[in-house]
Amino acid sequence: MSQNQSSKILNELKRILIIGSGGRENSIAWALSKNQSIEQIYISPGNGGTSNIEKCICLRPKSKDDEAIILECKRLLINLVIIGPEVPLAEGLANKMREAGLIVFGPSKEGAQLESSKDWAKAFMKENNIPTANYWTSYSKEDALEILNRYGQPLVIKADGLAAGKGVTVCESIEQSRDAIKEIFSGKFGPAGNKVILEEKIVGPEVSIFALCDGEKLIVLPPAQDHKRLLEGDKGPNTGGMGAYAPAPLIDQKDIQDLTDLILIPTLKGLQKKNIKYIGVIYAGLMLTSSGPKVIEYNCRFGDPECQALMPLMGEEFASVIYSCALGELEKAPKLTRNNFCSACIVAAAKGYPEKTQKGDQININLKPHSSVQVFHAGTEIDQFDNIITSGGRVLSVVAQGKSFDEAFDLAYDSLKKINFDGIHFRNDIGYQVRSN
Ligand code: AMP
Repeated sequence: MSQNQSSKILNELKRILIIGSGGRENSIAWALSKNQSIEQIYISPGNGGTSNIEKCICLRPKSKDDEAIILECKRLLINLVIIGPEVPLAEGLANKMREAGLIVFGPSKEGAQLESSKDWAKAFMKENNIPTANYWTSYSKEDALEILNRYGQPLVIKADGLAAGKGVTVCESIEQSRDAIKEIFSGKFGPAGNKVILEEKIVGPEVSIFALCDGEKLIVLPPAQDHKRLLEGDKGPNTGGMGAYAPAPLIDQKDIQDLTDLILIPTLKGLQKKNIKYIGVIYAGLMLTSSGPKVIEYNCRFGDPECQALMPLMGEEFASVIYSCALGELEKAPKLTRNNFCSACIVAAAKGYPEKTQKGDQININLKPHSSVQVFHAGTEIDQFDNIITSGGRVLSVVAQGKSFDEAFDLAYDSLKKINFDGIHFRNDIGYQVRSN
């Protein structure tokens, strides 16, 4: 595309609003802030680290309803809204904002079903020949137990709806599969558990791929890998994610092209067939099995903390690319360049996370600014005395870049030593797959 078109896109984009309060949103804001033409970035509600990011402030309308935030967008002449988390996407915030004339990066409620209903996503994959594990859908405990009995082997049991990453049990025994079925139908996840997906267990290394979509076209970002379990050696309970790294070397450029043809393009085409103009991130969580790659889940937004590891790899054009997607004009975007580093992200969690998170602890950060280290806040807030205190389970992530993963992780862990709060805990083995020490 021409220089002119690209600079027009840059010139228009001045004020951005990002919806969310986590590390993902802070890292997106940080990546966007590198673009010279952007004047102001608001994050709503944001967190205790929002104002540390250049050009960035929190936006907190008095009322929490969607109409209040739409009015604020109009008042502040916001050119682009980026919706970070899955819940507002599943509830239709992007629909309402587009109806009000705003330019939004994030799928409609209909598109967000890729993530908000596992049953919908599985049927969608079957319809579009996208490889995934075999499954059954069940609406009652009795029916689900009957399917399990007939199958005669442990299954993966999933609540259909959004369950903050906690609705999946990969069962080791039939007994455990039974318990997981009973637990979901007893109402543990509320309406998200009205339906249950019983899935065949598949095995293989996992990797996530991401595409930025404008409804018809897409571009693929470097792959990332996260660590969901709380404890070292991938043990303990599932969490929102304890760390990540990118680009994941498990797949190379050729594999990425193959996965784009096999999974990402059929996904976008399948959505178009359903008259869904999908603008936003398609995240495909994959398992590389002996019979080929299979999708284990879709997300309708960036993963957290994969996003924090990915953002430092994005060139300055990132803002224009996102904006072009939101306009449905990806062809007008400048080429997205990529920094050639290895990026490591380690999440520091609060005492008691994930079971019983302690809040209100003062956070001390004694880090000197370093061009290859970022601290992205998540569960933090500023108290009445201007101290930064913990306010959530995953408190912050430290991200570092290096020429190798060893260098990136050494720098990230060294930096983490200079951050402290009561009960801080993190995994020391994040990225063990790519580190030699
Ligand atoms: P999900 O929330 O669907 O991504 O599932 C959470 C985790 O459960 C995944 O990251 C996998 O490690 C595991 N998992 C999900 N589905 C399967 C499956 N069919 N077979 C084996 N493991 C699975």
